[in-house]
Amino acid sequence: MEIKVTPGDIVQVESDALIVNLFEGVEHPGGATGAVDKALGGAISMLIKEGEFKGELNRTAAIHSLGKIPAKKVIVAGLGKSEEFTTDRIRQVSATSLREARALGAKSVSTIVHGAGIAGFAPRGASQALTEGAILGLYKFDKYLEKKEKKEIEEFLVVEFDEKKIPEVERGVERGKIFAQAQNMVRDLVNEPSNQMTPRVLTERAKEVTERFSLRIEVLAEEELRRMGAETFLAVAKGSEEPCHLIVMRYETDPQAATVALIGKGITFDSGGVSIKPSKGMEKMKADMAGGAAVIGAMQILAQLKPQVNVLGIIPATENMPSGHALKPGDVIKSLGGKSIEIISTDAEGRLILADALTYAQRLGADKIIDIATLTGGCTIALGNLTAALLGSDQKLVDLLIDTSQETGERMWQLPLFEEYFDQIKSDIADVKNSGGREASTITGGMFLKQFVDKTPWVHIDIAGKELTDKQKGYLVKGAAGYGTRTLAAAVLKI
Ligand code: ZN
Ligand code: ZN
Repeated sequence: MEIKVTPGDIVQVESDALIVNLFEGVEHPGGATGAVDKALGGAISMLIKEGEFKGELNRTAAIHSLGKIPAKKVIVAGLGKSEEFTTDRIRQVSATSLREARALGAKSVSTIVHGAGIAGFAPRGASQALTEGAILGLYKFDKYLEKKEKKEIEEFLVVEFDEKKIPEVERGVERGKIFAQAQNMVRDLVNEPSNQMTPRVLTERAKEVTERFSLRIEVLAEEELRRMGAETFLAVAKGSEEPCHLIVMRYETDPQAATVALIGKGITFDSGGVSIKPSKGMEKMKADMAGGAAVIGAMQILAQLKPQVNVLGIIPATENMPSGHALKPGDVIKSLGGKSIEIISTDAEGRLILADALTYAQRLGADKIIDIATLTGGCTIALGNLTAALLGSDQKLVDLLIDTSQETGERMWQLPLFEEYFDQIKSDIADVKNSGGREASTITGGMFLKQFVDKTPWVHIDIAGKELTDKQKGYLVKGAAGYGTRTLAAAVLKI
């Protein structure tokens, strides 16, 4: 889909479908919607009057223009209540209305920038959200289907009446493309079944991003990891026939500038290992590399937007499988940082691979660390599928992520890391154990990771339950969400 920005009057624009909007409760549409309504002889007002359309969020109504304007059809998109309007709702409405246009068979679609005329919504941010919603909402993953749905929108025209606003709208659209295309790439990685998305393939994909966007990459394989002493990572990997990789992507700017490390859990399939998971729902465990994929996506965005900090993207990639070589409950292993770990559950493997990655990030000179992982089932219990959990040693970094998540719509909420929680992961025979039981499991997961971070400001994001979605809603479509990609990148841009 090609996205273009053009100055002009939306009423005069030629396209298969034209999108205007309406706040809930408005009886007489104004602005662009009012102008279109007038040109259509009051057809939109009539829908409102008859109670057929009320402007509720993410509801749409389609009207044939019957030749009264150059556009063939008009889609009115509901914005919900004006006092509840947010940037994220622009994304949602853009996605919903474009899917509606696609379903109607439109090849060319024109739209106004939702929210651009409202106080507090700058044209740049609004058009970025509009573009993100469009690209994310139209995403589909159909590569394994014999019969693919052929309807595609080829041209998306963003129409702005005020010519002075055009440069800002253009900037917003460009930025929106960069963010949303990266998130869709992440969705592609996560949607792949684990037989197609092995650690080796994940490495290949990271290399492709590296080459395309002029980043650097190093891949540490088993032999090097062994020499280095990354025993905890290797302990998880040894149950699998697939070779493991520690992927290190680098964005480099001024060597004097600070270095931020983004670390993402890259378990390409989590069977639970010897502490095997119940088979119900196990197919979803192909998405246990969603954190790692989000880091690759964030690196793709940052490579294009060029922040003034150096960025490391570190992804420990392996499968977690049961076999004669696999790690067993009760085993004691040594981490790269020197601490010993008693294994209680081999299904708590994410924190093990992250432990060594955290140590490695510090050795590479990270000044700030953000890790992202589908870490604990408890995160889904606590926060459902709407909000990720944040835990960290540095309140400034936590606040930065929370503020950023409010802009990106990828909600995040802080949980406490009170020292007393360490009691739950105290081991009798090692420095720490890898499971503290079901109570407060998201917190004890974070507390475990904290043991492997010295003084470096660090934040852990638990996205368990957010990596996949089983319903289409707003800009989310069934399957991989790409959760966290935009927030990671947008946060780094503010550091
Ligand atoms: Zn697990
Ligand atoms: Zn896992």
